[in-house]
Amino acid sequence: MSDPGTNWAGNVAYRAERLVRPTTVEEIAGIVTASASVRVVGSRHSFSDIADTTGTMISLADLGGEPELDAARGVVRVPGGWRYGDLAPWLQERGRALSNLASLPHISIAGAVATGTHGSGERLGSLATQVRAVESIDGTGAPVRVERGDPDFAGSVVSLGALGVVTAVELDTEPAYELSQTVYEGAHWDDVLARFDEVQRGGDSVSLFTTWRDRDLVDQIWVKCRRDAPDLSVVGARPADGPRHPLPGIDPAPCTPQQGSRGPWFERVPHFRMAFTPSAGEELQTEYLVPRSDAVAAIDAVRALTPVIAPLLQVCEVRTMAGDDLWLSPASGTDAVGIHFTWRLDVAGVSALLPTIEAALPATMRPHWGKLFALSGADLAARYPHWDDAVALRERRDPDRRFHNAAMARFGL
Ligand SMILES: Cc1cc2nc3c(=O)[nH]c(=O)nc-3n(C[C@H](O)[C@H](O)[C@H](O)COP(=O)(O)OP(=O)(O)OC[C@H]3O[C@@H](n4cnc5c(N)ncnc54)[C@H](O)[C@@H]3O)c2cc1C
Repeated sequence: MSDPGTNWAGNVAYRAERLVRPTTVEEIAGIVTASASVRVVGSRHSFSDIADTTGTMISLADLGGEPELDAARGVVRVPGGWRYGDLAPWLQERGRALSNLASLPHISIAGAVATGTHGSGERLGSLATQVRAVESIDGTGAPVRVERGDPDFAGSVVSLGALGVVTAVELDTEPAYELSQTVYEGAHWDDVLARFDEVQRGGDSVSLFTTWRDRDLVDQIWVKCRRDAPDLSVVGARPADGPRHPLPGIDPAPCTPQQGSRGPWFERVPHFRMAFTPSAGEELQTEYLVPRSDAVAAIDAVRALTPVIAPLLQVCEVRTMAGDDLWLSPASGTDAVGIHFTWRLDVAGVSALLPTIEAALPATMRPHWGKLFALSGADLAARYPHWDDAVALRERRDPDRRFHNAAMARFGL
């Protein structure tokens, strides 16, 4: 038993009474039934109190087990505490890969899919769409296994951690692949917005980075390609003359290889290397997803707010993702564009600004569950057609509300 500590960014000191590290699934069931209030913490990368509880916080870091690959089905079963950065080389050694990853490999798989974490790529769904089955201990201490195709599956993956302890997930894999990564500079927003679809089609994964210090300039376009790197001169962009960090002027050593060199998927798909601290640290994050059809309006709305955004901002990233059918996924029912903000570590300043940004964005906007946002209650529920189904599933899986916490109270879930 130990102190629950803080989240990765250090802006949330967890209030849990205790942190426990079970080593078996049986032990987990006992912990859940003995606790009036319980939650799992993954790798602590969320920026809110979403993983917190007033009672027992469970870490699965010591949960035993190795992944198991079903080569015939191309499906890997992964114990609940594993991180993408550990699974990726394990898969590579066996000739398999995941279709996409987030910007960092350090996050736990169960924690990432619980919040709808995503990478970029207009034909690639969020990481939750790679999930084929979820095994968990529910709020009654009972084991539950839900597979793609089961009636409860669409509500069980992006769970916000509210449905129980995920003890294992099964993920789709594909044959290992290589890709290149090229960073471009010099593009202008007017050109990029006019040719938004063309730019996105330039690679398997495309990220637009800007600090909004110059509201006309897209500082960098990161393109990850299985085929040849695109010519982006139509939007005024040219390949950078050296490796880049998304933040101008920062040492690019923590970033994955660039300048068009090809390499294994897991060494190019994330922006950051496993061996380094991702991003620049000392930060907060917010992200809003909008339907692809609202992307240009949403980016224009943010662009109009640059005088108030830029002073608090480290960098903004725009990514695309394919829609899915998962009830609480921010990309549920629509291809989506995510507008992400890496803020300076100024909790008061960021908290004060978020309602202004949210009011300016299209009403279709949905916030990333693992980052900071102001929307709550009915304003959130109205954006999810399956909200009532999600509430009903939560009531069945956790009738005594052991997994309820302050974040769920704000969300009204
Ligand atoms: C530097 C940085 C970069 C990031 N980049 C991206 C990005 O590229 N794309 C993106 O979409 N997001 C990104 N994020 C956000 C991050 O992916 C999410 O916050 C994600 O949920 C973090 O996973 P975690 O394992 O740290 O989960 P935690 O933050 O520990 O927990 C998140 C939720 O999952 C639940 N949970 C965790 N494990 C389990 C389990 N085994 N069973 C049941 N519930 C569980 C928790 O209770 C909580 O509700 C980034 C965050 C950081 C700090």
